[in-house]
Amino acid sequence: MSSYLVLARKYRPQNFDELVGQEVLVTTLSNAIKNNRLHHAYILTGIRGVGKTTTARIIAKTINCSDADAITAAKACGVCDNCCLISSSRHQDVIEIDAASRTGVDDIREIIDSIAYAPVSAKYKIYIIDEVHMLSNNAFNALLKTLEEPPAHVKFIFATTEIRKVPITILSRCQRFDLRRLDESEIIAHLKNILQKENFEADEAALQAIAKMSEGSVRDSLSMLDQALASNNHQKFLPLDVVEKMLGLSNRVQVVEFFEKILSGNFPNAVAAFSEFYAYSSDCSQLLNDLLDVVHKTMSAKLIKDYRLDGYSQFQQEKVREIAQKASLGSLIRIWQILTKSVTEINSFSSPKMAFEVLIAKLCHLVALPDLQNLLLDLHQKQNPQQNILAQKTSENNDDLLHEILRNFEGAKILT
Ligand SMILES: [Zn+2]
Repeated sequence: MSSYLVLARKYRPQNFDELVGQEVLVTTLSNAIKNNRLHHAYILTGIRGVGKTTTARIIAKTINCSDADAITAAKACGVCDNCCLISSSRHQDVIEIDAASRTGVDDIREIIDSIAYAPVSAKYKIYIIDEVHMLSNNAFNALLKTLEEPPAHVKFIFATTEIRKVPITILSRCQRFDLRRLDESEIIAHLKNILQKENFEADEAALQAIAKMSEGSVRDSLSMLDQALASNNHQKFLPLDVVEKMLGLSNRVQVVEFFEKILSGNFPNAVAAFSEFYAYSSDCSQLLNDLLDVVHKTMSAKLIKDYRLDGYSQFQQEKVREIAQKASLGSLIRIWQILTKSVTEINSFSSPKMAFEVLIAKLCHLVALPDLQNLLLDLHQKQNPQQNILAQKTSENNDDLLHEILRNFEGAKILT
């Protein structure tokens, strides 16, 4: 059996047409190569795992490929010596430097000194400097002059996750490309495509959970998929629970139920559920975030018909919709306010567990309080016993009714 190659490496794009989600960059660079109008320095910026180094290597390969058609097609052959050596970062004319570990002016001097020499076997000598923002000020200054007028055989490709830390003097000498973060549906489509090639299938919600956690980074999503397939013993079908367990989301399944307990106002029940979470993981702020997510989803499900509850299992989705129907918008908003206020409180308190329990007590107390809306309706009923408002209260037109009542009440009357 051949050794297993991780998906992120196996499916690393080898050419522009394989780069996912970076259409602007692909078109601009392909055209520049075809028309022989390549800039001498590029800076690629974007979050980690979005394809910066990959793009740098694709540029390097395309302009150094031995195939005669590589330039006209803006596509490297992928099989010549130059292509193979660049793909595996072993080409002596394509120098990859990690600025995170080589930040000093001496490191840059070394590069500058070598720039004058012609490439050994390729057409261009290409310097790929990763995390370029990490270079020291002296190193940047040393680089400036070379960047202004590099020899014709030299190209610079810088990559950075923090473009704001790169001096403007450097930026103004480079052509800049912003690699965009992929949205969840693009990541899901990409994962599906790869799963199909690998002969796997997966629960849609499992892929949604991975896409959500990857925050737009293709590489992260692929390493998560790899891990998930491994924890599933590479069985044909990847279910949601395996992914949830792997991502530490398994307690998110129960967060919806936890929220339901809070909404019922039963403090002992809600605290018991919290203790179970706490036994599993003492990360109270994560639980708080998960809870906020559930409140947001419930609110959205209440307000938007057919709101998509991505990343939630079928069971959770049904549960959220059920809660959304029962809970009033007013109480959801108040719960949200209390939760967001507690974010710093819980993290800064010496015992987050204690703070969380008090938070649960607050929430249970809050849901037990009657809604302002209901209070007004009751008050109105008492003053107008001839109208059967209680029967209407359950009707769908609660808001219209409330507005009418509010119009009838004079402000002073309510206050006294
Ligand atoms: Zn080639």
